[in-house]
Amino acid sequence: MPAATIIRPVWRRFRPRWLARAAAHVRAGGCAAIVDEHDNVRVLLPVDAKGKLPELALWALLAIEHRRTTRALDGPAKGLATTLIKPRFAGSVLDWCARDAVHEGATRSFELDCIACGACCHDANVILDEVDLDRFRKGGRKDLTTSKYIVRHRDGRISLRFAKPGPCQLQASDNRCTIYELRPDNCKRFVAGSEACLAAREDTLHLRDGAPWDDDVVPSTT
Ligand code: SF4
Ligand code: SF4
Repeated sequence: MPAATIIRPVWRRFRPRWLARAAAHVRAGGCAAIVDEHDNVRVLLPVDAKGKLPELALWALLAIEHRRTTRALDGPAKGLATTLIKPRFAGSVLDWCARDAVHEGATRSFELDCIACGACCHDANVILDEVDLDRFRKGGRKDLTTSKYIVRHRDGRISLRFAKPGPCQLQASDNRCTIYELRPDNCKRFVAGSEACLAAREDTLHLRDGAPWDDDVVPSTT
């Protein structure tokens, strides 16, 4: 993807008594974490005109292995998507809130240049399917279906073989994908600006899109 302007939701943390503020933040395009006195974390997410989660909100949920939300039925959050976060992922959500405490407003606009970055092609878990393998064969790259490039797992999954730790074998030194036209569907689906993208940039490039890890940010909305 060439350099692009990304508009992503800003994560904010709220106490339950500030639900109306949280709902207003979400209706303006942000995402909210409602943290109760027992440190349970419930997220409140926007819903588009078709009743679906916007792409980046959905990818945030997928990043913490959640898929389902319900709709708030009444109160200030009525109609918004919500779900209780499993305790082992609560820290991730609160970290997003701490990171975003330095950003004003409900959304953040910034530039991403995938060619300059290439972070998501490092240490990734790229699952393949037969459609990908067929594309490799038809594209004259049968070698990509061999054990040099793929791993066949006992449970039937197939994945790209990565050096550990390191970049994909198919990434060139200028970060470009050397099989761009044939690349796996999961590589095509990866969304720039998603939480998975931001995590890859943090892990590989140590670029954090907000407050640094060790910054003692105290969110003002709690
Ligand atoms: S980590 Fe994000 S910005 Fe970097 S190459 Fe991947 S999608 Fe693009
Ligand atoms: S196949 Fe291409 S796009 Fe996918 S991880 Fe490797 S270098 Fe990146």
